[in-house]
Amino acid sequence: MEIKEAEFITSSVMENQCPKPLLPEYAFIGRSNVGKSLLVNMLTNNRKLAKVSGSPGKTITMNHFLINKAWYLVDLPGYGFARRSKTERKKWEKMVRHYILTRSNLMSLFLLVDLRLEPQKIDMEFIEWLAMSQIPFVITFTKADKLNKINIEKNLAVYKRILLESWEELPPYIITSAVAGVGKKELLQYIEKTNGLFSVSGFPL
Ligand code: GDP
Repeated sequence: MEIKEAEFITSSVMENQCPKPLLPEYAFIGRSNVGKSLLVNMLTNNRKLAKVSGSPGKTITMNHFLINKAWYLVDLPGYGFARRSKTERKKWEKMVRHYILTRSNLMSLFLLVDLRLEPQKIDMEFIEWLAMSQIPFVITFTKADKLNKINIEKNLAVYKRILLESWEELPPYIITSAVAGVGKKELLQYIEKTNGLFSVSGFPL
């Protein structure tokens, strides 16, 4: 699949403000600065779709983009922004968790993780919560261009070891670099394949 059209639809702060759940949807999430905006822009061939490097002052919203008139890409606000107030963090938590748990057309969540860093507690806890909540997700490693092949394998092995301590099998994962254009094909292939599984609840296609 190639993204030919990416149209901004709306920014929401509540699940009930989101577009009607009539198309398959994929949400992107991760710690602030993980490279989410750049990745979304790489996928959509648009350098400005998602704003790169959000400031702590920016409004916390969930942004819907309609892709090829066929599916939604959602840019969720990043977590783990140290400079955000406790009230803001609580707001994030309530909004995003509620969205993830109730959005009926959410096919999969792309959880972005910086491959350069050792596993971060906040990411591992989020993974644990997704698994417990039975939300399908793909671990999307970012910034692979910053590592050589040996270090990619080395860092992956650390994640795999930790994940296999609590999982019987590994969740799906994709290695990406927005800078080097790595992982785009795999990610879009995953979405294309998963789109085929979509049916509006109560209205099988
Ligand atoms: P966000 O806060 O998750 O949306 O992160 P951004 O997309 O704004 O990126 C945060 C910083 O990481 C910026 O300085 C980007 O230039 C950098 N960055 C993002 N993706 C990559 C990547 O694939 N490779 C490299 N080397 N840097 C990246």
